[in-house]
Amino acid sequence: MQYQSTRGASPAVAAAGAISRGICPDGGLYVPDTIPRLSQEAIAGLTGASYSERAAAILGYYLDDFSKEEIELVANKAYGGAAFSDGGVAPLRRLNAATSFMELWHGPTCAFKDVALQALPSLLAMSLRKINEPRKACVLTATSGDTGKAALEGFRDAPNAGIFVFYPRDGVSEIQKLQMTSQEGSNVGVMAVEGNFDDAQTGVKAIFADEGLRAQLDAAGYFLSSANSINCGRLLPQIAYYVSAYCDMITSGELKPGEELVFAVPTGNFGNILAAWYAGEMGVPIRRLVCASNKNDVLTQFINTGVYDSNRPFYSTVSPSMDILVSSNLERLLFELSDKDSGAVSEYMRALSGTGRYEVADSVKSRLLGAFYGGYCTEEDTKSTIAETFRNNGYLIDTHTAVAYKVLRDYREANGDGTPAVVVSTASPFKFCGSVLDALGVAHGPDGVDLIEELARATGCPVPAPLARLGEKQPRFTGCVPVGAMAGAVRDFLQLR
Ligand SMILES: *Cc1c(COP(=O)(O)O)cnc(C)c1O
Repeated sequence: MQYQSTRGASPAVAAAGAISRGICPDGGLYVPDTIPRLSQEAIAGLTGASYSERAAAILGYYLDDFSKEEIELVANKAYGGAAFSDGGVAPLRRLNAATSFMELWHGPTCAFKDVALQALPSLLAMSLRKINEPRKACVLTATSGDTGKAALEGFRDAPNAGIFVFYPRDGVSEIQKLQMTSQEGSNVGVMAVEGNFDDAQTGVKAIFADEGLRAQLDAAGYFLSSANSINCGRLLPQIAYYVSAYCDMITSGELKPGEELVFAVPTGNFGNILAAWYAGEMGVPIRRLVCASNKNDVLTQFINTGVYDSNRPFYSTVSPSMDILVSSNLERLLFELSDKDSGAVSEYMRALSGTGRYEVADSVKSRLLGAFYGGYCTEEDTKSTIAETFRNNGYLIDTHTAVAYKVLRDYREANGDGTPAVVVSTASPFKFCGSVLDALGVAHGPDGVDLIEELARATGCPVPAPLARLGEKQPRFTGCVPVGAMAGAVRDFLQLR
C-alpha cells in the first residue's frame, strides 16, 4: 500500500516513509491510497481476539511493508503489557439499553491519546530502520495538556529518540502540569512557555522552519520529528478501537452481526473521529458519526453549512483538549469526500491559510451530512450532563466525554434515532477534578493534586493508579522561557553548544 499526499504534489511513499516523515513535503497529509474493505466474516473473526490481536489485525491491513512479526511486536508492546493493566485498552461500560461508553483512558496518562502514542514510538523506530535513516528522532511537541504527557510516556527511554515538550505556562491544569514536569526517563525534556497554546505552537513551528538549527541537529545526528496527530502513525492505531467496540457489542449481544451502531466522539483536531470514519469504510456498520464540539463550534457550523470559518473568538472551556479553531485532520476527510481531488483540497487549504475560511463543493456537503451529525455543547450543559449522569446512573464522566454524551442526546432527539450508540470516553474524570467537582456542586480547594482525593471522597469513585501516585512526585522540569528562547531550550536539551 502506498501513502499519498492530500495535496498531490509529493510522491507517494510506503507506510514507513509516511510515518518517518509525519507530514508531506508539499504541506499535505499522508493518506493510504486504498481503504481495505473487510468482509463481515473477517470482522466477526476478531470477536474472540484480545485487544492487541485486534489491533495487530487492523494495523496489518495498512502496514504491508511491515512483517507480521513486527506488527505483533508493536501491538504487544503497546497493548499486551503493563501500560493498560488498569482496566484494559478499550473496555465498554454499558449505561442503559441503548448507550455504552468506550473508556479509552486506562493507559499511563489517563487520556485516549495513550492508545496511539503507546504504539507510535515502535512504529517510528521500525520505520526509520526500513528507510535507512541513521539519525535519531528529536520529537518536538507543543501541547495543550494531554498530547504532551502521552507522548512523553510513549517515548521515554526509546533508544533512537529524544522528546522535548513545550506547554503554555498559563494553559494547562495543575494536574496536567505536574504529570509533565515530573516525567521520568533519560531522553525527555519539558519546558513551560510564556503565553498560551497558540504561542507555544507558533514557537514549535518556527523551530521546524529554522534552517540553522536543523543543520546543527543534523551534524549532531538528529532530525526533527513530531508526535502530532497529523502523523498517520497516530491515526492507524485509533481505527482498531472502533472495530473492537463493534466486536464487543456483538459479543455482549447488544448488536447482531451486521447491525448498525452510532459513535459519538468529542472532537478537537478531528483525529479520533476520522479513525471512526475509516473503521466505517473498512466495514464496521456505522449509521452516523456524531461529531461533538464544545463552545468552539467551528466543526458544527462546517458540517451543517459546508463553510469552514475560523474567523471567530477562541474560548477557553472546561474541555480544554477540544479548544481548537483549525482541525488539521479534517484535510484527510475532505480528500476522501471529494474523491481524492487533491486540487480541490489544495484550494481549500490555500483559502484557509489566506482568509481563514473555505466553502466545500455541494457534493462534499451532502456526503458530509450523510456520514456526520455535528452538534455542540455549552459550558452549562457540559456540567449538568456530568451531574445528571452521576445522579441518575452512578457513572462519573469527564468534561470532554460529557460534551459527546450531550450532543448524542441532541442527535437522538432531532432524528428520532434509537440505534445503539457508543460514546467515546476520552479522559478520566480525575484529570479534570476542579471542573468535575464544580459540575457536581461540591465546594473545593484550589486547582492541584489535592483535588484528586477530594473528588474520590465526593464520589466514591476509584482514582486511576497513575494519578493516585502523582501526589508523591517531585517536579524535575521547572524552567519557563519566552517564545523567542524556545530554540535555545532545544539546543540546551540536546547539548548542542
Ligand atoms: C485530544 C482530546 C480530544 C480531541 O481529540 P481529537 O482527535 O483532537 O479530535 C478529546 N478529548 C480529550 C480528553 C483529548 O485529550
